Amino acid sequence: MKSSSRRDFFRYMAILGLVTWSASPLLAKETKEKLMYQDSPRDGKKCSECLHFLPKTNECKLVDGSISPDGWCTMYFKDTRKKS
Ligand code: SF4
Repeated sequence: MKSSSRRDFFRYMAILGLVTWSASPLLAKETKEKLMYQDSPRDGKKCSECLHFLPKTNECKLVDGSISPDGWCTMYFKDTRKKS
């Protein structure tokens, strides 16, 4: 297996795992404090480009309450389909 295809495989599995986990109705949202949420970007990373961001309501699939599109937390995961 080529290095890039192995990398793609692991990336796919990581995304699949996160999507499955974040879509599970059995998991309650976490508090902002627990996931170290902040209202500003961190190292250029922000909620609006995260896999878990819900832009219509400015909410997150994982964090409880309203969040900022410019925020960030420890569960950040870049959604390559979203623009920065
Ligand atoms: S960075 Fe954290 S708070 Fe922001 S959308 Fe992603 S998971 Fe939710």
